[in-house]
Amino acid sequence: MIIGSHVKFNEEQFLGSVKEALGYNANALMFYTGAPQNTRRSVINKELTAKALELMKNNNIDINNVIVHAPYIINLANKEKLESWNFSISFLKNELSRCEELGVKYLVLHPGSSVNHSKEEGINNIIEALNYVVNDNNKCMILLETMAGKGSECGSTLEEIKTILDGINSKNIGICLDTCHLNDSGYDMHEFDKFLNEYSKILDINLIKCIHVNDSKNIKGSHKDRHENIGLGTLGFDTILKIVNNNKLKDVPKILETPYISELDNTKELLYPPYKFEIEMLKNGTFNNNLKEDVRNYYK
Ligand code: FE
Ligand code: FE
Ligand code: ZN
Repeated sequence: MIIGSHVKFNEEQFLGSVKEALGYNANALMFYTGAPQNTRRSVINKELTAKALELMKNNNIDINNVIVHAPYIINLANKEKLESWNFSISFLKNELSRCEELGVKYLVLHPGSSVNHSKEEGINNIIEALNYVVNDNNKCMILLETMAGKGSECGSTLEEIKTILDGINSKNIGICLDTCHLNDSGYDMHEFDKFLNEYSKILDINLIKCIHVNDSKNIKGSHKDRHENIGLGTLGFDTILKIVNNNKLKDVPKILETPYISELDNTKELLYPPYKFEIEMLKNGTFNNNLKEDVRNYYK
């Protein structure tokens, strides 16, 4: 099973990210190359990158299983302020070249929110923007993430994703499924094989290069986008276990983006990553009733 989680990218950059992933017994990882909510970015350190790649090699982590997530302030759908739209495009280009410096092959992107535009206009803006960025020569492939359909988010249906892909001149672009988002946008994850059949009528299964594996706090079709820990949400452990073990997606890296476990220490809230324990559950195939307590005890 190719499985990992969201990890940090701090002073030690890529090297620190790989170390963190190894601490979770992961063989895949995903990170933002800076804060997700802003566009401040440090220069990529060549030495740290070389060390990260070496560490990956020694631990059998394939570079195809390393994913970068683009910051969510990039919005290609909203063209109301031309300046902001242009900035999103240039920032995305910059993020792609940072991925190339790191050797990373996949960059996950939220298609965008149309805000005051119609959905159709929003999607056209995304297509126009992506045509400035995506081309056959890119060494890193952009993956459009399936969205929950919160607010004016575009890309919450397979049809919308297809419309975007069809509008792009280059085929050097793929898809990232997010199980929480799919549930929240109205797809039944409890019938995942049925979902994949439906998917295959619309899109090529080979386009899927990453899966975000999350449980959801909300019911199908809620359009909320609030992730839950594995087995503690409306998808449930058995459903998620079936998804991560699906034979058609066995070579696709699975990335957990579940929430940190909180603990109140006097008045201070401490937060611990659940990933080591969630990965263990999914590898073992057995639900850990004590997930939160085990995480707290481990990090305390
Ligand atoms: Fe995302
Ligand atoms: Fe996601
Ligand atoms: Zn989400």
